[in-house]
Parts: sequence; C-alpha cells; structure tokens
Amino acid sequence: KPLVFSGVQPTGNLHLGNYLGAIRRFVLLQDSHDCIYCVVDMHAITVWQDPVELMRATREVTAAFLAAGIDPKKHIVFNQSRVMQHAELAWVFNCVARMGWLNRMTQFKEKAGKDRENASVGLFAYPTLMAADILVYRATHVPVGDDQKQHLELTRDIAQKFNNDYSSRIADLDVGVEMMMGDERVNGFFPLTEPLIEGPAPRVMSLRDGSKKMSKSEPSDLSRINLTDDAETISKKIRKAKTDPDGLPSDVEGLKGRPEAENLVTIYAALAESTKERVLGEFGGQQFSAFKPALAELAVARLAPIANEMRRISADQAYVDGVLREGGERASVIAEATMKTVRSILGLVSS
Ligand code: ATP
Ligand code: MG
Repeated sequence: KPLVFSGVQPTGNLHLGNYLGAIRRFVLLQDSHDCIYCVVDMHAITVWQDPVELMRATREVTAAFLAAGIDPKKHIVFNQSRVMQHAELAWVFNCVARMGWLNRMTQFKEKAGKDRENASVGLFAYPTLMAADILVYRATHVPVGDDQKQHLELTRDIAQKFNNDYSSRIADLDVGVEMMMGDERVNGFFPLTEPLIEGPAPRVMSLRDGSKKMSKSEPSDLSRINLTDDAETISKKIRKAKTDPDGLPSDVEGLKGRPEAENLVTIYAALAESTKERVLGEFGGQQFSAFKPALAELAVARLAPIANEMRRISADQAYVDGVLREGGERASVIAEATMKTVRSILGLVSS
C-alpha cells in the first residue's frame, strides 16, 4: 500500500517555496494516500537553534500544515524528536552508508560553506537521518522540492545496500517483500522509495538571486516571501525582486537564460493554477512594472487566508501540542514495529 512521508524543518520562516514545492502537495496527496507529515526538529539542530525559537518554529510549522489543510485525524502529524526510532535507525544507516556517498552531497557543501572543519557531524550525517525518517515507516513515496533529489537517491542507495547486505537474514526471518532491483527480483526489507518532485514549482528561486533557491535560512528576508508576510511586505518584496531590463517575453522560449523572469512567471503560474504559457499569453510584451503588482495581488490573495488560519490555530497552543502528541503516539507504533524487525535482522539481542 502506498505510504507518503515528508518533513519540514522548524528553521526560521516558512516561505512560498516550502508551500508550492512541499506543503501544498502534501495536502493534495491526502485523498489518495496514507500520509505521515513530520516537523523535523532533529534536523533543525544540525545547525545552531535558539531553544525557545525552536519550540516556537516547531509549533508554527505544525500550524502551517493544519492551516494549509492537512487533516491530523486521517493522517499523522508529529515532531520527529518524539519518536526515538528515527535516531536509532539513523545510527544503523550511519553504519550502512559509506563516507564517499555522503562526501558527494551538495547540500552539505552549501550549508557548511568554507569553514567545513567547523560544521557539526550532524550536518554531515543529515542524509542518513533523512533516510531513517522515511524508511522507519517503509514509506513508498516522498513529496519534496527539487533540492532534495540527491538525498532521496541516497535513501534508495541505503535501502538497497541494507537489503543486499542482510539478504540471507531477511530471507531466514521471512520479513522481506518481493521487489525489483534493476532487472533482478529480490526479497528486500526496505522499499526503494520514489521521490515525488513534481507540480508547477518544484524549485522556487530567491527573489534576489535567480541562481539560488528560496530558503528559510537565507539571511536576507527580501530573498523570500514568508507565509506570514502581510500584504504590504509581499508587495514590497515583489517590487524589489531582481529582474533584467527587458519586458516579459511572449512565449516560454523567451524565458531561456532569464532566471529571475522565469522565476516570477513560474510563481504566478503556480499560484494561479495556470501554466507559464498561459501567463505569458496574458502578460507577454508588458513591462515588469505592470506584471509585478498583478503578481503581488495574486500572492496576497492566495497566502493571506493561510496566514490568518495559521494565526487562529497558533493561538491555541494546547491544541497544536495535542496534535503533535497524538501523532507521535501513532507514529511510534509503526516505527517500533519496523525497529523490532531491524534489530533482529542485525542480530541485536533484545529478548
Ligand atoms: P533551510 O534553508 O533551513 O534548509 P528550506 O527552505 O530548504 O530551509 P526545508 O525545511 O529544508 O526548507 O525543506 C522543506 C521542504 O520544502 C522540502 O521538501 C524542500 O525540498 C522544499 N523546498 C525548500 N525550498 C524550496 C524551494 N525554494 N522551492 C521548492 N521547494 C522547496
Ligand atoms: Mg532545506
């Protein structure tokens, strides 16, 4: 049965990229899948977090999930740290993954920057914890933004190596399921999870630099539209968004080599549930001075109801904490069932 897992870090301000690339798609998958949505606080602490701010942001991301339309009764919403099995399986995966695999991860290189010697070990090992988040539920599908593609490939590599290293033990205990690995039919314990990197805006770019993705952790607030920005702030940020001197082209071909223009058109199309072709059909030939106010108006119309709902939900902290507690309890049951089997596959005595 298909099972969806995904997570968002409680690090700073949720933005339009998180919404279009991830949260909006979490909502859409609810009708067709069983879903587990996680506020990944253990990932957040791979870089310094102020403890009080971390608690605030954990509740805020939860409120955003609920405000966007995730149903915590039908699906599972919780924060990662309550379910210890994530960390336990991450350790196992630290022993499965190879240094060389992690050395190739571009997110670590970007986040560690020049001073790599001073990055936390956790930041380096981040992808093994992410693999554990997914595989502790044996999730089959993971909706993420384009930036997480490499980590999802690593998750599949880890699952494959685990299945392979322990294949005879998995067969002896009869805990595997039949699956295809390449053209080979094998009996594996962990599924080879499919990334779902789709939708109209899998990679929303910074408003200040068309070569960088929009990020929570980017210091410049002008680079992103936060879900909680008011109408005036959204208008200002879009007005100040970097563009080239030309107007909008009349077709998609004309966006080639113009990343900032392409980004704004992509955002408009995603928010309007339209396509870039249709947006250019309407605005092609106009100047950005005409397009930007229309984009701002659309962004406000789409985001304000979510922000209002977030505020309403956040006012009831007991309710938000209750959702996380109950979700954590339900998640723990699934995660512990997986770990019982993993412990016996590995030969860890637990009887
Ligand atoms: P940080 O800078 O702290 O890593 P972030 O903005 O990358 O923050 P995450 O919590 O790491 O946010 O990611 C949450 C989800 O949002 C992931 O699925 C990620 O792929 C997606 N996402 C993040 N940024 C973008 C973006 N610019 N466009 C589309 N999706 C994005
Ligand atoms: Mg990120």
